[in-house]
Amino acid sequence: MEAAKEKLLQGSEFCFRSGRLYCESVNIKDLQATVERLYKSPFYVYSKAQLQKNISDYCTALNQSGLEHKLYYSVKANRNLELLRIISSSGCGATTVSGFEMQIAMQAGFPPSNILYNGNGKTMEEIEYAIRQGCMLNIDSQFDAAHILEVAKKLHKTARVLLRLNPDIDPNVHPYNTTGLQLSKFGIIDQHLSTVVEMVQSSPCVEVIGLHCHLGSTIDDLGVIASMCTYLLQKTRELRGKGFDSIRCINVGGGLSINYKREGGAVPTPAKLIAEIQKKLKGEKMQIILEPGRSVIGNTAILVTKVLGVKSSPSKTFVVTDGSMTEVIRPSLYSAYHHADLLDYTADTGHGDKTLLDIVGPVCESADFLAKDRLLTLPLEGSGLVICDVGAYCASAASNYNMRPRPAEILIDQDQWRLIRRPETFEDLLRTCVGI
Ligand SMILES: *Cc1c(COP(=O)(O)O)cnc(C)c1O
Repeated sequence: MEAAKEKLLQGSEFCFRSGRLYCESVNIKDLQATVERLYKSPFYVYSKAQLQKNISDYCTALNQSGLEHKLYYSVKANRNLELLRIISSSGCGATTVSGFEMQIAMQAGFPPSNILYNGNGKTMEEIEYAIRQGCMLNIDSQFDAAHILEVAKKLHKTARVLLRLNPDIDPNVHPYNTTGLQLSKFGIIDQHLSTVVEMVQSSPCVEVIGLHCHLGSTIDDLGVIASMCTYLLQKTRELRGKGFDSIRCINVGGGLSINYKREGGAVPTPAKLIAEIQKKLKGEKMQIILEPGRSVIGNTAILVTKVLGVKSSPSKTFVVTDGSMTEVIRPSLYSAYHHADLLDYTADTGHGDKTLLDIVGPVCESADFLAKDRLLTLPLEGSGLVICDVGAYCASAASNYNMRPRPAEILIDQDQWRLIRRPETFEDLLRTCVGI
Protein backbone atom coordinates (compact mmCIF):
# COMPACT_ATOMS: atom_id res chain seq x y z
CA MET A 1 0.00 0.00 0.00
CA GLU A 2 1.68 3.19 -1.12
CA ALA A 3 1.44 6.25 1.05
CA ALA A 4 -0.01 8.22 -1.86
CA LYS A 5 -2.99 5.92 -2.01
CA GLU A 6 -3.96 6.75 1.56
CA LYS A 7 -4.11 10.41 0.63
CA LEU A 8 -5.93 10.08 -2.64
CA LEU A 9 -9.40 10.75 -1.34
CA GLN A 10 -8.40 12.71 1.71
CA GLY A 11 -10.54 15.54 2.97
CA SER A 12 -13.68 13.70 1.99
CA GLU A 13 -15.96 11.18 3.61
CA PHE A 14 -14.62 8.63 1.13
CA CYS A 15 -11.12 7.60 2.09
CA PHE A 16 -8.75 4.69 2.25
CA ARG A 17 -7.82 3.20 5.61
CA SER A 18 -5.04 0.61 5.47
CA GLY A 19 -5.69 0.02 1.79
CA ARG A 20 -9.47 -0.37 2.09
CA LEU A 21 -12.02 2.14 0.87
CA TYR A 22 -14.52 3.53 3.37
CA CYS A 23 -17.46 5.86 3.19
CA GLU A 24 -17.80 7.38 6.64
CA SER A 25 -17.46 4.28 8.85
CA VAL A 26 -18.68 1.73 6.31
CA ASN A 27 -16.25 -0.52 4.49
CA ILE A 28 -17.25 -0.44 0.83
CA LYS A 29 -16.13 -3.97 0.04
CA ASP A 30 -18.31 -5.37 2.82
CA LEU A 31 -21.17 -3.17 1.68
CA GLN A 32 -20.72 -4.38 -1.89
CA ALA A 33 -21.05 -8.01 -0.83
CA THR A 34 -24.35 -7.26 0.92
CA VAL A 35 -25.86 -4.86 -1.60
CA GLU A 36 -24.95 -7.07 -4.53
CA ARG A 37 -26.80 -9.95 -2.92
CA LEU A 38 -29.89 -7.84 -2.14
CA TYR A 39 -30.04 -5.41 -5.04
CA LYS A 40 -27.38 -6.24 -7.66
CA SER A 41 -24.30 -4.41 -8.86
CA PRO A 42 -23.55 -1.62 -9.75
CA PHE A 43 -24.98 0.83 -7.22
CA TYR A 44 -24.48 4.40 -6.05
CA VAL A 45 -23.32 5.16 -2.51
CA TYR A 46 -23.95 8.58 -0.97
CA SER A 47 -22.48 10.07 2.18
CA LYS A 48 -24.92 12.01 4.31
CA ALA A 49 -22.10 13.68 6.25
CA GLN A 50 -20.48 14.89 3.01
CA LEU A 51 -23.77 16.39 1.83
CA GLN A 52 -24.32 18.16 5.12
CA LYS A 53 -20.75 19.45 5.13
CA ASN A 54 -21.12 20.83 1.60
CA ILE A 55 -24.30 22.69 2.53
CA SER A 56 -22.77 24.03 5.71
CA ASP A 57 -19.66 25.20 3.80
CA TYR A 58 -21.96 27.38 1.69
CA CYS A 59 -24.02 28.56 4.67
CA THR A 60 -21.00 29.41 6.80
CA ALA A 61 -19.35 31.43 4.03
CA LEU A 62 -22.62 33.20 3.22
CA ASN A 63 -23.28 34.04 6.86
CA GLN A 64 -19.78 35.41 7.27
CA SER A 65 -20.02 37.47 4.10
CA GLY A 66 -22.59 39.85 5.54
CA LEU A 67 -24.60 39.55 2.33
CA GLU A 68 -28.35 39.19 2.62
CA HIS A 69 -28.64 35.82 0.97
CA LYS A 70 -30.59 32.72 0.13
CA LEU A 71 -29.12 29.38 -0.93
CA TYR A 72 -31.04 27.43 -3.57
CA TYR A 73 -30.19 23.90 -4.63
CA SER A 74 -30.31 23.07 -8.31
CA VAL A 75 -32.51 19.97 -8.42
CA LYS A 76 -31.39 18.74 -11.84
CA ALA A 77 -27.98 17.80 -10.40
CA ASN A 78 -29.63 15.06 -8.34
CA ARG A 79 -33.29 14.57 -7.61
CA ASN A 80 -33.27 11.61 -5.26
CA LEU A 81 -36.20 12.27 -2.93
CA GLU A 82 -34.36 11.35 0.26
CA LEU A 83 -31.43 13.58 -0.66
CA LEU A 84 -33.83 16.40 -1.54
CA ARG A 85 -35.43 16.02 1.90
CA ILE A 86 -32.05 16.40 3.59
CA ILE A 87 -31.37 19.51 1.52
CA SER A 88 -34.81 21.09 2.05
CA SER A 89 -34.64 20.46 5.79
CA SER A 90 -31.44 22.53 5.90
CA GLY A 91 -33.50 25.53 4.80
CA CYS A 92 -32.46 25.79 1.16
CA GLY A 93 -34.73 26.83 -1.68
CA ALA A 94 -34.74 24.98 -5.02
CA THR A 95 -34.09 25.81 -8.66
CA THR A 96 -36.00 23.56 -11.03
CA VAL A 97 -36.15 23.13 -14.78
CA SER A 98 -39.37 21.21 -15.41
CA GLY A 99 -42.88 20.70 -14.08
CA PHE A 100 -41.97 17.38 -12.49
CA GLU A 101 -38.89 18.91 -10.85
CA MET A 102 -41.14 21.55 -9.24
CA GLN A 103 -43.45 18.77 -8.12
CA ILE A 104 -40.73 16.60 -6.58
CA ALA A 105 -39.19 19.65 -4.90
CA MET A 106 -42.52 20.35 -3.21
CA GLN A 107 -42.88 16.71 -2.25
CA ALA A 108 -39.45 16.93 -0.64
CA GLY A 109 -40.59 19.86 1.48
CA PHE A 110 -39.29 22.91 -0.37
CA PRO A 111 -41.91 25.66 0.07
CA PRO A 112 -43.26 26.84 -3.33
CA SER A 113 -42.33 30.43 -2.50
CA ASN A 114 -38.69 29.25 -2.41
CA ILE A 115 -38.84 27.35 -5.68
CA LEU A 116 -37.62 28.96 -8.87
CA TYR A 117 -38.77 27.55 -12.19
CA ASN A 118 -36.16 28.17 -14.85
CA GLY A 119 -35.94 27.09 -18.47
CA ASN A 120 -35.61 28.18 -22.07
CA GLY A 121 -38.54 26.06 -23.20
CA LYS A 122 -41.39 26.07 -20.72
CA THR A 123 -44.75 24.63 -21.78
CA MET A 124 -47.98 26.51 -21.03
CA GLU A 125 -48.94 23.71 -18.62
CA GLU A 126 -45.67 24.05 -16.72
CA ILE A 127 -46.04 27.84 -16.55
CA GLU A 128 -49.58 27.48 -15.24
CA TYR A 129 -48.47 24.96 -12.64
CA ALA A 130 -45.68 27.26 -11.44
CA ILE A 131 -47.97 30.30 -11.15
CA ARG A 132 -50.78 28.39 -9.44
CA GLN A 133 -48.37 26.93 -6.91
CA GLY A 134 -46.74 30.29 -6.22
CA CYS A 135 -43.29 29.41 -7.55
CA MET A 136 -41.04 32.09 -9.01
CA LEU A 137 -40.27 31.96 -12.73
CA ASN A 138 -37.30 33.03 -14.78
CA ILE A 139 -38.13 34.83 -17.99
CA ASP A 140 -35.72 33.48 -20.60
CA SER A 141 -36.77 35.18 -23.85
CA GLN A 142 -39.37 37.39 -25.51
CA PHE A 143 -41.63 34.46 -26.28
CA ASP A 144 -41.23 33.15 -22.75
CA ALA A 145 -42.28 36.57 -21.39
CA ALA A 146 -45.32 36.57 -23.67
CA HIS A 147 -46.33 33.08 -22.51
CA ILE A 148 -45.89 33.89 -18.82
CA LEU A 149 -47.91 37.12 -19.18
CA GLU A 150 -50.65 35.27 -21.03
CA VAL A 151 -50.97 32.55 -18.40
CA ALA A 152 -50.79 34.95 -15.43
CA LYS A 153 -53.50 37.09 -17.01
CA LYS A 154 -55.72 34.09 -17.59
CA LEU A 155 -55.31 33.01 -13.97
CA HIS A 156 -55.81 36.55 -12.61
CA LYS A 157 -52.60 36.12 -10.64
CA THR A 158 -49.40 38.08 -10.29
CA ALA A 159 -46.35 35.98 -11.13
CA ARG A 160 -43.09 36.74 -9.38
CA VAL A 161 -40.39 36.69 -12.04
CA LEU A 162 -36.68 37.14 -12.51
CA LEU A 163 -35.17 38.13 -15.82
CA ARG A 164 -32.54 35.63 -16.88
CA LEU A 165 -29.92 37.62 -18.69
CA ASN A 166 -27.35 36.34 -21.14
CA PRO A 167 -24.29 38.50 -20.40
CA ASP A 168 -22.15 37.03 -23.20
CA ILE A 169 -19.37 36.01 -20.82
CA ASP A 170 -17.25 32.95 -21.58
CA PRO A 171 -16.80 30.78 -18.47
CA ASN A 172 -13.95 28.80 -20.12
CA VAL A 173 -15.53 25.38 -19.72
CA HIS A 174 -16.63 22.60 -22.09
CA PRO A 175 -18.93 24.06 -24.78
CA TYR A 176 -21.78 21.81 -23.61
CA ASN A 177 -21.43 23.36 -20.14
CA THR A 178 -21.49 26.93 -21.41
CA THR A 179 -24.78 28.80 -21.00
CA GLY A 180 -24.05 32.52 -20.84
CA LEU A 181 -22.62 33.23 -24.27
CA GLN A 182 -24.62 34.62 -27.18
CA LEU A 183 -23.92 31.28 -28.87
CA SER A 184 -25.95 29.48 -26.21
CA LYS A 185 -29.71 29.11 -26.12
CA PHE A 186 -30.22 30.49 -22.62
CA GLY A 187 -31.20 33.91 -21.35
CA ILE A 188 -32.14 37.30 -22.73
CA ILE A 189 -29.39 38.93 -24.77
CA ASP A 190 -28.69 42.64 -24.36
CA GLN A 191 -30.30 43.53 -27.69
CA HIS A 192 -33.63 42.03 -26.59
CA LEU A 193 -33.73 43.30 -23.03
CA SER A 194 -35.55 46.55 -23.68
CA THR A 195 -38.36 44.72 -25.53
CA VAL A 196 -38.82 42.28 -22.66
CA VAL A 197 -38.70 45.12 -20.17
CA GLU A 198 -41.47 46.97 -22.01
CA MET A 199 -43.59 43.83 -22.04
CA VAL A 200 -43.32 43.21 -18.31
CA GLN A 201 -43.49 46.87 -17.33
CA SER A 202 -46.85 47.37 -18.96
CA SER A 203 -48.39 44.32 -17.30
CA PRO A 204 -49.91 44.10 -13.82
CA CYS A 205 -49.65 40.29 -14.02
CA VAL A 206 -45.94 40.05 -13.29
CA GLU A 207 -43.73 41.51 -10.63
CA VAL A 208 -40.05 41.61 -11.57
CA ILE A 209 -38.28 40.79 -8.30
CA GLY A 210 -34.80 40.23 -9.62
CA LEU A 211 -32.19 39.54 -12.25
CA HIS A 212 -30.52 36.24 -12.89
CA CYS A 213 -27.44 34.90 -14.66
CA HIS A 214 -26.00 31.41 -14.87
CA LEU A 215 -22.80 31.26 -16.89
CA GLY A 216 -22.33 27.54 -17.11
CA SER A 217 -20.94 24.66 -15.11
CA THR A 218 -17.61 23.27 -13.89
CA ILE A 219 -16.31 26.83 -13.48
CA ASP A 220 -12.79 27.13 -12.04
CA ASP A 221 -12.11 30.70 -13.06
CA LEU A 222 -13.74 32.93 -10.46
CA GLY A 223 -12.82 36.03 -12.47
CA VAL A 224 -15.78 35.28 -14.73
CA ILE A 225 -18.08 35.31 -11.70
CA ALA A 226 -16.78 38.76 -10.81
CA SER A 227 -17.48 40.00 -14.36
CA MET A 228 -20.98 38.57 -14.16
CA CYS A 229 -21.65 40.34 -10.84
CA THR A 230 -20.52 43.62 -12.37
CA TYR A 231 -22.86 43.03 -15.29
CA LEU A 232 -25.81 42.18 -13.04
CA LEU A 233 -25.22 45.26 -10.93
CA GLN A 234 -25.08 47.51 -13.94
CA LYS A 235 -28.32 46.03 -15.31
CA THR A 236 -30.00 46.38 -11.90
CA ARG A 237 -29.16 50.09 -11.87
CA GLU A 238 -30.39 50.52 -15.42
CA LEU A 239 -33.72 48.85 -14.65
CA ARG A 240 -34.20 50.70 -11.39
CA GLY A 241 -33.61 53.86 -13.38
CA LYS A 242 -36.51 52.78 -15.57
CA GLY A 243 -38.78 52.57 -12.54
CA PHE A 244 -38.38 48.93 -11.52
CA ASP A 245 -38.43 49.47 -7.77
CA SER A 246 -39.50 45.89 -7.22
CA ILE A 247 -36.05 44.50 -8.05
CA ARG A 248 -34.70 43.22 -4.78
CA CYS A 249 -32.64 40.16 -5.61
CA ILE A 250 -29.73 39.14 -7.75
CA ASN A 251 -29.42 35.47 -8.62
CA VAL A 252 -25.84 34.63 -9.55
CA GLY A 253 -26.61 31.05 -10.61
CA GLY A 254 -24.50 28.01 -9.83
CA GLY A 255 -21.68 26.44 -11.77
CA LEU A 256 -18.81 26.05 -9.34
CA SER A 257 -16.52 23.17 -10.24
CA ILE A 258 -15.41 20.43 -7.87
CA ASN A 259 -12.13 18.57 -7.48
CA TYR A 260 -12.80 15.75 -9.95
CA LYS A 261 -9.08 15.08 -10.30
CA ARG A 262 -8.85 14.54 -6.56
CA GLU A 263 -5.41 16.07 -6.50
CA GLY A 264 -4.06 19.03 -4.55
CA GLY A 265 -3.79 22.43 -6.15
CA ALA A 266 -6.07 25.40 -6.42
CA VAL A 267 -9.61 24.12 -6.27
CA PRO A 268 -12.41 26.64 -6.17
CA THR A 269 -14.39 26.44 -2.95
CA PRO A 270 -17.73 27.96 -1.95
CA ALA A 271 -15.79 30.28 0.37
CA LYS A 272 -13.67 31.60 -2.50
CA LEU A 273 -16.72 31.96 -4.74
CA ILE A 274 -18.63 33.89 -2.09
CA ALA A 275 -15.64 36.12 -1.35
CA GLU A 276 -15.63 37.07 -5.03
CA ILE A 277 -19.36 37.82 -5.01
CA GLN A 278 -19.07 39.76 -1.76
CA LYS A 279 -16.37 42.01 -3.21
CA LYS A 280 -18.76 43.07 -5.95
CA LEU A 281 -22.14 43.08 -4.28
CA LYS A 282 -21.61 44.02 -0.65
CA GLY A 283 -23.62 46.97 0.56
CA GLU A 284 -26.09 46.78 -2.32
CA LYS A 285 -29.17 46.13 -0.17
CA MET A 286 -30.06 43.23 -2.42
CA GLN A 287 -30.78 39.64 -1.60
CA ILE A 288 -28.14 37.46 -3.27
CA ILE A 289 -29.31 34.07 -4.45
CA LEU A 290 -26.86 31.28 -5.20
CA GLU A 291 -28.13 28.10 -6.80
CA PRO A 292 -25.36 25.48 -6.91
CA GLY A 293 -25.97 21.88 -7.86
CA ARG A 294 -22.69 20.15 -8.57
CA SER A 295 -20.72 21.72 -5.71
CA VAL A 296 -23.40 20.62 -3.23
CA ILE A 297 -23.97 17.05 -4.38
CA GLY A 298 -21.12 16.10 -6.76
CA ASN A 299 -18.58 14.72 -4.30
CA THR A 300 -21.15 13.00 -2.08
CA ALA A 301 -21.30 9.79 -4.11
CA ILE A 302 -19.39 6.97 -5.76
CA LEU A 303 -20.56 4.30 -8.18
CA VAL A 304 -19.54 0.86 -6.96
CA THR A 305 -19.02 -1.52 -9.86
CA LYS A 306 -17.67 -5.00 -10.34
CA VAL A 307 -15.01 -6.10 -12.80
CA LEU A 308 -16.53 -8.50 -15.33
CA GLY A 309 -13.24 -9.20 -17.02
CA VAL A 310 -10.05 -7.81 -18.46
CA LYS A 311 -9.32 -7.76 -22.18
CA SER A 312 -6.11 -6.67 -23.89
CA SER A 313 -5.01 -5.92 -27.40
CA PRO A 314 -1.46 -4.95 -28.33
CA SER A 315 -2.45 -1.30 -27.92
CA LYS A 316 -5.03 -1.29 -25.12
CA THR A 317 -6.03 -2.90 -21.87
CA PHE A 318 -9.74 -2.76 -21.16
CA VAL A 319 -11.16 -3.38 -17.73
CA VAL A 320 -14.81 -4.21 -18.38
CA THR A 321 -17.13 -3.42 -15.47
CA ASP A 322 -20.86 -3.83 -14.92
CA GLY A 323 -21.09 -0.03 -14.58
CA SER A 324 -21.43 2.01 -17.76
CA MET A 325 -22.44 5.23 -19.46
CA THR A 326 -26.05 4.56 -18.45
CA GLU A 327 -25.10 5.29 -14.81
CA VAL A 328 -22.26 7.80 -15.41
CA ILE A 329 -22.77 9.58 -18.71
CA ARG A 330 -20.38 12.49 -18.10
CA PRO A 331 -17.26 10.87 -19.65
CA SER A 332 -19.18 10.00 -22.84
CA LEU A 333 -20.98 13.32 -23.04
CA TYR A 334 -18.26 15.80 -22.11
CA SER A 335 -15.09 13.68 -22.04
CA ALA A 336 -15.30 14.43 -18.33
CA TYR A 337 -12.77 13.04 -15.89
CA HIS A 338 -13.89 10.99 -12.90
CA HIS A 339 -11.35 9.52 -10.55
CA ALA A 340 -11.46 5.70 -10.59
CA ASP A 341 -10.02 3.37 -7.99
CA LEU A 342 -9.95 -0.14 -6.64
CA LEU A 343 -11.79 -0.63 -3.41
CA ASP A 344 -9.44 -3.00 -1.67
CA TYR A 345 -5.72 -2.85 -2.27
CA THR A 346 -5.05 -5.63 0.22
CA ALA A 347 -6.97 -8.30 -1.70
CA ASP A 348 -8.35 -7.25 -5.08
CA THR A 349 -5.20 -6.64 -7.06
CA GLY A 350 -4.04 -8.90 -9.87
CA HIS A 351 -0.41 -7.94 -9.44
CA GLY A 352 1.40 -4.96 -8.02
CA ASP A 353 2.39 -3.29 -11.28
CA LYS A 354 0.41 -0.39 -12.56
CA THR A 355 -1.05 -0.75 -16.03
CA LEU A 356 -2.29 1.85 -18.47
CA LEU A 357 -5.93 0.92 -18.86
CA ASP A 358 -9.38 2.02 -19.95
CA ILE A 359 -12.40 1.31 -17.78
CA VAL A 360 -15.41 0.54 -19.94
CA GLY A 361 -18.94 -0.79 -19.54
CA PRO A 362 -21.07 -3.37 -21.38
CA VAL A 363 -23.16 -0.88 -23.38
CA CYS A 364 -23.02 -1.23 -27.15
CA GLU A 365 -21.43 2.13 -27.89
CA SER A 366 -17.75 2.89 -28.28
CA ALA A 367 -18.50 6.05 -26.31
CA ASP A 368 -19.27 3.81 -23.34
CA PHE A 369 -16.24 4.44 -21.17
CA LEU A 370 -15.86 5.54 -17.57
CA ALA A 371 -12.16 6.31 -17.59
CA LYS A 372 -9.45 6.40 -20.23
CA ASP A 373 -5.70 5.90 -20.09
CA ARG A 374 -5.45 5.49 -16.32
CA LEU A 375 -2.38 4.16 -14.64
CA LEU A 376 -3.96 1.80 -12.16
CA THR A 377 -3.18 -1.48 -10.47
CA LEU A 378 -4.86 -4.12 -12.59
CA PRO A 379 -7.91 -5.34 -10.65
CA LEU A 380 -8.88 -9.00 -10.40
CA GLU A 381 -11.94 -10.32 -12.19
CA GLY A 382 -14.90 -10.15 -9.81
CA SER A 383 -13.36 -7.45 -7.66
CA GLY A 384 -14.69 -3.96 -7.06
CA LEU A 385 -13.91 -0.73 -8.89
CA VAL A 386 -15.32 2.64 -7.91
CA ILE A 387 -15.98 5.74 -9.96
CA CYS A 388 -15.77 8.81 -7.75
CA ASP A 389 -17.70 12.06 -7.58
CA VAL A 390 -20.84 10.81 -9.28
CA GLY A 391 -23.31 12.69 -7.09
CA ALA A 392 -24.13 15.31 -9.72
CA TYR A 393 -25.55 14.68 -13.19
CA CYS A 394 -25.09 10.90 -13.00
CA ALA A 395 -28.08 9.27 -11.28
CA SER A 396 -30.26 12.17 -12.50
CA ALA A 397 -29.07 11.65 -16.07
CA ALA A 398 -29.09 7.83 -15.95
CA SER A 399 -30.91 6.02 -18.73
CA ASN A 400 -32.36 2.64 -19.60
CA TYR A 401 -30.39 2.33 -22.84
CA ASN A 402 -29.74 -1.30 -23.72
CA MET A 403 -32.64 -2.16 -21.33
CA ARG A 404 -30.37 -1.50 -18.39
CA PRO A 405 -32.26 -0.94 -15.15
CA ARG A 406 -31.29 2.13 -13.17
CA PRO A 407 -29.41 0.83 -10.14
CA ALA A 408 -29.91 1.06 -6.39
CA GLU A 409 -28.96 4.18 -4.44
CA ILE A 410 -27.62 3.73 -0.93
CA LEU A 411 -27.21 6.40 1.73
CA ILE A 412 -24.57 6.05 4.40
CA ASP A 413 -24.95 7.77 7.75
CA GLN A 414 -21.93 7.06 9.96
CA ASP A 415 -21.84 3.28 10.39
CA GLN A 416 -25.34 2.70 9.01
CA TRP A 417 -26.57 2.34 5.45
CA ARG A 418 -30.01 2.25 3.90
CA LEU A 419 -31.64 2.04 0.51
CA ILE A 420 -32.86 5.43 -0.79
CA ARG A 421 -33.90 4.21 -4.23
CA ARG A 422 -34.48 0.63 -5.20
CA PRO A 423 -33.09 -0.66 -8.46
CA GLU A 424 -35.48 -0.95 -11.38
CA THR A 425 -36.83 -4.33 -12.38
CA PHE A 426 -37.75 -5.78 -15.75
CA GLU A 427 -41.39 -5.12 -14.83
CA ASP A 428 -40.61 -1.44 -14.13
CA LEU A 429 -39.20 -1.09 -17.62
CA LEU A 430 -42.24 -2.77 -19.17
CA ARG A 431 -44.81 -0.83 -17.15
CA THR A 432 -45.29 1.96 -19.67
CA CYS A 433 -45.55 -0.36 -22.66
CA VAL A 434 -48.91 -0.71 -24.35
CA GLY A 435 -50.51 -4.05 -25.18
CA ILE A 436 -48.97 -6.39 -22.64
C1 LIG B 1 -27.89 23.72 -13.81
C2 LIG B 1 -28.13 25.05 -13.26
C3 LIG B 1 -27.53 25.41 -12.05
C4 LIG B 1 -26.59 24.51 -11.29
O1 LIG B 1 -25.37 24.35 -11.92
P1 LIG B 1 -24.21 23.57 -11.19
O2 LIG B 1 -23.09 23.58 -12.16
O3 LIG B 1 -24.70 22.18 -10.93
O4 LIG B 1 -23.88 24.28 -9.93
C5 LIG B 1 -27.85 26.65 -11.53
N1 LIG B 1 -28.69 27.49 -12.19
C6 LIG B 1 -29.27 27.17 -13.35
C7 LIG B 1 -30.18 28.13 -14.00
C8 LIG B 1 -29.00 25.95 -13.93
O5 LIG B 1 -29.57 25.64 -15.10
